[in-house]
Parts: sequence; C-alpha cells; structure tokens
Amino acid sequence: MRILIVVDTQLYQQLFQTVLSDLHIQADYVADGWSALRALQQGSYDMLCLGLHLPDMNGLDVCRQLRAEAATALLPIVLLTSDDKETTLKESLEAGITEVLRKSNFAELSRAFRQLLGGMRMQVKGRVLYVEDSQMASTVTLHLLEKMGLLIDHFISADVAWDQFQTQDYDLVITDILVEGTLSGVGLLRQIRGLEDERNRIPVLAISGLDDTARRIEILRQGANDYIAKPVVEEELRARVTNLITAKQLFDTVREQQRKLEEFAVTDQLTGLYNRHFLYEAAQQAVANASRHRYPLSLLLLDLDHFKLINDRHGHDVGDKVLCEVGALLRKSCRDGDVAARFGGEEFVLLLVQCPLADARIKAERLCAEVDAASPAGHKVTASIGVASLPLGQQANFEQLFKQADLAVYAAKRSGRNRVVLADPPMPVPQTSL
Ligand code: GH3
Ligand code: MG
Ligand code: MG
Ligand code: MG
Repeated sequence: MRILIVVDTQLYQQLFQTVLSDLHIQADYVADGWSALRALQQGSYDMLCLGLHLPDMNGLDVCRQLRAEAATALLPIVLLTSDDKETTLKESLEAGITEVLRKSNFAELSRAFRQLLGGMRMQVKGRVLYVEDSQMASTVTLHLLEKMGLLIDHFISADVAWDQFQTQDYDLVITDILVEGTLSGVGLLRQIRGLEDERNRIPVLAISGLDDTARRIEILRQGANDYIAKPVVEEELRARVTNLITAKQLFDTVREQQRKLEEFAVTDQLTGLYNRHFLYEAAQQAVANASRHRYPLSLLLLDLDHFKLINDRHGHDVGDKVLCEVGALLRKSCRDGDVAARFGGEEFVLLLVQCPLADARIKAERLCAEVDAASPAGHKVTASIGVASLPLGQQANFEQLFKQADLAVYAAKRSGRNRVVLADPPMPVPQTSL
C-alpha cells in the first residue's frame, strides 16, 4: 500500500511518519495541491491525505479535480481539518472526500488514521459460491474476487450451483438474478433460506443488471443480504464482500464459542460424561416422557467400592485415571437416548430409556463384571450398583427413582460390595399386559 500525504508542517509530517512506519506503510510527502495532482498523475497511490487550506489552493478543489479524472475517481481521499462546522463536513462529502478526520487532537487523529488504514488493508479469507451466466461479467468479477485472495467456485447455472452448495461449506454466495436454466438467482436464494440447518444463514449478495428500485427491494425481501448493480465497481464489490464475509465469520466464531460454553456447562470435566446438572434436566424430561407414553425407564446408580483406598494408596492422580476409565465403560453401555453421567465423586448414573427392570438388571450385572475385569489404571477396582425402574402407569418422579437406586446401592455395600441389587422394596414391577 502506498499513500500520498499533503502536509506543510513538520509536526504533522512527523505524526504520519510514526503511525505509518508502525504499520509498515510507504508514504510520499508533498507540500501543496499542485504537487499532489502532479504526483498522482505520475504514480499510483492507494490513498491521498490532505488538509483543507493548502498553501496554493483549497483541498476540496484538489478533490473535485481528482474525482473528474477516471484514474482517480474512486481513490480514497481523507481530509484533515480542525474545522468542526457541519457545513464543512457536508461540503467535503459533496466534493467527494471519503472520510473527514479532525486534526484537533493528536492522539485521536493517530487512532482514527490507524483504524482507517486497518480497515482498508483488511484481507478476508473465505470461499465464495459465484453464479453468473454472462462470460463478460464473470471474467471481471472473478478477477476482482481472486485479487482479494478469495477461493471461488463459479457456475453458470443456479441448478448446478445449488447441488454444489449442498456438498461444500461457503462463506458467501454471490448470484446474478437472471441466469440460464430452470432455477433463477432468486430461486437459489429461496432454496438456501428454506434449508432447515444453519447453512440457511449464509450471506447472499445479489448482482443484477436490472436496476429498478422495486426489483431491488423484492430481492432483499427474499432474503438477500446485499445488492450490487451491474457493471460491478471494484471498490464497491470489495467493500460489500468484505463486510458480508467478516460478519458471517464473526457470527460463526460467536456460535462456536456459545456451543463450547453450552457443552462445558453440561459436561463433567474429568470423565467427559454428562454432569449432575445435565442429568437432572434430562431425567425430568425422561420421566415425564416415560409417564406420558407409558414406556419403561430404569436407572443404575454405580458407586465404586473402597475408592478412598485407591486414592490413599496410589494417589489422587491414579484415582482420577480410574474414574476416567470407569466413565468410558459406562459410555460404552449407552444406547441412543440413554444418559451416562458422573453424579459426583466416585458415583455414576446410567439412565436407561425404554428399558424395563429385567433388562436394566442384565445391563448392571454386565457392567459390574466389566469394572471387575477392567483393572483401571492397573488396579483392582469393583463397584456396587443399585437398579430401580419407574412404576409403569403410576405417578413417580426422578427423586423417588433415584432414592430407590441409592437405597439399593447401600444394600449392596452392606451385603459385601461388587454386586448388583435391585431396589427393595422394588418400585412396582413393570406390567407386561398394558
Ligand atoms: P465405599 O465402598 O463405601 O463406597 O467406600 P469409598 O471409599 O468408595 O467411599 P467414600 O465415600 O468413603 O470415599 C469416596 C472417595 O472418593 C473419597 C474422595 O476423596 C474420593 N473422590 C471424590 N471425588 C474424587 C475425584 O474427583 N478424584 C479422586 N481421585 N477421588 C475422588
Ligand atoms: Mg445473467
Ligand atoms: Mg460414594
Ligand atoms: Mg464408594
């Protein structure tokens, strides 16, 4: 990036030199308006920065002259002024100034300048699905998008683009409105917005030669995020594409963070199983569903035997490893819809949906034998498991179900550990003839 700066005081030249060398941007300095016009005719610059009152002419006149020339019609021109009058701002914008920065505060000016350059230099990365059937239009636009460093998949038909959209993740869709084939650009837009998953939020930039307001409003109503009229102007395309992709990627980042936070809130950090908090939520729902649809629901409560001794003899780290390996055994016993959770300490819960007591007992016996045989972290470990089932067709809640399983664990401990005990008195056995 190369900038031309018109300054006539040493102080401001020093300010620019400091800011620009920090940003590794090359700048040329001239002292008046005519020198600026000459320099712009001779060399190519990405930005001009000038004051309102130059020694030989008015800064706005320099701007007007540049806007009249094709080569500099779109050049970003920044005006530095100490004038706070609203009329100056309006007049400046009318003359074609891109941005007005106040000179009054040195630190403020330096900050604003940094921000402006940062925005101009911002490079987005991303993948674009581009639909355009006119070869002339697509050649120009493809060139501009490639210059921005984007990856582009170009299609001349919206039907083929739609097939491709469903197999690949994109950051932006750019579509012409009138395209060959059965699907128009608006049709493609409708298909995308009609998707059930998150891909329906992808930004869509519509491009069209039909530049009437009603049509533009209609396209935006159909869900396009932005609109450009043909012929495409480089600066406009660059600015709109950058904005859309940046917003999409920011949204993705926030979404991902939110997902991680949600996962974190329901996960036991040591074992990766669900935590007690999630278990309560899921269990209330499972009990309600089982009661409403009259299907069986069982709960296994597993408590490791003499676990304190493992910690005492081999250390807390070994204890943690044992908990992780037992957690993995529980996870393995889960079917879809079951919940394996660490209830706390060395106690685990398996909530088994659509599982009657008899099946839950078989599962518990198997799990008990697996823990016994596993030697987690190289040590002999056993577990006591209590099993309880919901009474079919009767009112019961999760607390009662858990209490029954807890009493069964207690009974297993008293009767020698490393065993399975059914809730006693068991909650009424499921009736088979419902
Ligand atoms: P019982 O057979 O009667 O259940 O005996 P126990 O030793 O397993 O039961 P107790 O409740 O006396 O001890 C449980 C131990 O579990 C005590 C505690 O230090 C340990 N513990 C709880 N949470 C963790 C943990 O996250 N990591 C480790 N390493 N130990 C834990
Ligand atoms: Mg077309
Ligand atoms: Mg315990
Ligand atoms: Mg224990």
